[in-house]
Amino acid sequence: MSNVANASDPTSPAMTSAGKDERTVVIVEDDPNIADLVDLYLREAGFRVLQAAGGERGLELIIQHRPVLCVLDVGLPDIDGFEVCRRIRSTPATAALPVLFLTARDGEIDRVLGLELGADDYVTKPFSPRELVARVKAILRRGVTAPAAEQTTFEIGDGIVIDVARREVRIGSGPVALATKEFDLLAHLARNQGIALSRQQLLDGVWGADWVGDDRTVDVHVRQLRKKVGDDLPLATVWGVGYRLG
Ligand code: CA
Repeated sequence: MSNVANASDPTSPAMTSAGKDERTVVIVEDDPNIADLVDLYLREAGFRVLQAAGGERGLELIIQHRPVLCVLDVGLPDIDGFEVCRRIRSTPATAALPVLFLTARDGEIDRVLGLELGADDYVTKPFSPRELVARVKAILRRGVTAPAAEQTTFEIGDGIVIDVARREVRIGSGPVALATKEFDLLAHLARNQGIALSRQQLLDGVWGADWVGDDRTVDVHVRQLRKKVGDDLPLATVWGVGYRLG
């Protein structure tokens, strides 16, 4: 088993003021060839890399080392990547950890894009390791965008509150559980209330300019938002353009 942590030097990590390894990435992948390849490219890009060959071990590493991102295979020998992601999201200390899924089949992609998982991005096997590193960097760039003075609470429609700082959506007093990208999309629309945004603008603003995907991604997430937030969400489809909130 290669699920022993192999950080370059875990005894002297670069620490931020928050006291966590600054640029550690955890790879959870049971195929050692894929894990080592991703490991190699991420190290070349300057990351500290820890590998786990199973889901449980991956969760341990994430709790212990507080990585900036997790590369997560779906098919794992113990608990699958979906369950790993669910546990990451349901643990307050790791709930905001970006997750990049490695998927093998179309069916997996649909689930990754789908409901409650909160994946930040995915690549489909076989993938280019360079592309994967580009995705990792894009996700991390998106994570450091909110200036302190920015408005962080938006009220839309009839009593729907979007609290960007707490990453929370409430209707009345009840919270609405959204996946990471669903929340990001709603927050982006809220920052641009009253403005019709094209799907491309939404892709750029939410997924980042480096995202390689198609408009369907936006539509899928809009559909989920409408389903989860409900009929009171004042999110209009603007024919020939895209979407407008409020
Ligand atoms: Ca696998």
